[in-house]
Amino acid sequence: MFTTIKEYHQQLLAGNTSCEAAVNHYLLKIDSKKNLNAFTRIFGDEALKRAATLDGARNSGAKIGRLHGVVVAIKDVICYQDHTVTAASKILEGFVSVYNATAIQKLLDEEAIIIGNCNCDEFAMGSTNENSVYGNVLNALDETKVPGGSSGGSAVAVQAGMCMISLGSDTGGSVRQPADFCGIIGLKPTYGRISRYGLIAYASSFDQIGIFGTSLEDVALALEIISGPDDYDSTAIDQPFNRGEISFSDTTLPTPLTEKKYRIAYFEDALQHPSLDKEIGTGIFSTINKLKTEGHVVEAVDFDLLEYIVPAYYVLTTAEASSNLNRFDGVRFGHRTKQPVTDLTEFYKRNRSEGFGKEVKRRILLGTFVLSAGYFDAYFTKAQQVRRMLVDRTNSIFNDFDAIILPTAPTTAFTIGEKTDDPIAMYLADIYTVFANLTGLPAISIPLYKHSNGLPFGLQLITNKMDEVTLLQLSAMLLQQYKNN
Ligand code: GLN
Repeated sequence: MFTTIKEYHQQLLAGNTSCEAAVNHYLLKIDSKKNLNAFTRIFGDEALKRAATLDGARNSGAKIGRLHGVVVAIKDVICYQDHTVTAASKILEGFVSVYNATAIQKLLDEEAIIIGNCNCDEFAMGSTNENSVYGNVLNALDETKVPGGSSGGSAVAVQAGMCMISLGSDTGGSVRQPADFCGIIGLKPTYGRISRYGLIAYASSFDQIGIFGTSLEDVALALEIISGPDDYDSTAIDQPFNRGEISFSDTTLPTPLTEKKYRIAYFEDALQHPSLDKEIGTGIFSTINKLKTEGHVVEAVDFDLLEYIVPAYYVLTTAEASSNLNRFDGVRFGHRTKQPVTDLTEFYKRNRSEGFGKEVKRRILLGTFVLSAGYFDAYFTKAQQVRRMLVDRTNSIFNDFDAIILPTAPTTAFTIGEKTDDPIAMYLADIYTVFANLTGLPAISIPLYKHSNGLPFGLQLITNKMDEVTLLQLSAMLLQQYKNN
């Protein structure tokens, strides 16, 4: 309907359209693409009402908010006051949030319209959106394929034009990987850039809210608005995102971009990895070569920690998940067994056994195991040491380079059911994304390529902590010059 938020605002101010027309447009789209199963709940009437209020205010001359009338969809793990939030789990069936996540409050303060909750993997655990109590989400480009996960619904909502931008969460790639599979932009900011208050926790030292969009400009604007320190999340960092006079939303302006020469690193081991689809490797090498031709410095750096990344991620995140998910006991809220039980332990057991799906149970068990006495040092402590080594290694890389280039995923979108019975194969496919979460670095997947199998794939960029400005500038340059669809 519109290519960017800026253009939408111009049309609104010129009187060519209205927020109500925009909401109607997206509601029709959502309805016509119901079979994709991207939404768990749609707030149609409410969105229309809000649109009418915004139209009234604008028409009477009020200054418009920076997200005035922007139609946003949110992953079903982000709390929106007085709205159901379930993390796509039976254990939270019917749970209504009593407060707004900070990111949601900031969207609303700038006059965004939240159109619905998006489907996802249960508690954000998965890579295909097949672990949801609401069922699979289909990839709109090929309905036999998964959209990726865990924020599959949020990705498809943007991919299929059912909203302007959407929010997901990224603990190990859940924004970047579905963006890659769906051919859109997916950004995971620096750990701490966006408050996690009101984001249902999976692994707290990894979780970040992320943004999906089709325009980098829109993604940058949303980031600028929802980031910042927060009294309710002590890990949300108070560091302005301006560099000199550049703000996030200015970074994607085209003019000065082509003149800057970047220093970019890549890992030979990652691009030669046996699990990487040959064509994806070739695509990325061709971008590397083009960058070199244009005078950027692009160099291979040694990186011998690749094989440790996925194991370290799954040890640490399952440990954190086993602790975070303790609170879902069916006593204060959530699913409660209907079976007659006489003792309290049996009551908890039944609530949790009935309420959690298979993948979540697997992770709680694994996490409890790696934290148990006798195994703690062998697994948890070891994985933390790997995490420290990764941080040290990346710090030294960023002494010499502005960015790291990686694939986002080793293959294009999987066929539905392809990896369901093989969790290890599923986990190993996270090889390129979990790195940025282990190190807390900002990362983005940009849709640069099309595979001969007809599916899109992206390029992943990672920059130094808090350096989203470079991340966005470099992305803008690549999207302008190298997008070949
Ligand atoms: N695929 C990863 C996992 O299953 C990523 C999850 C996420 O980022 N929430 O853990």
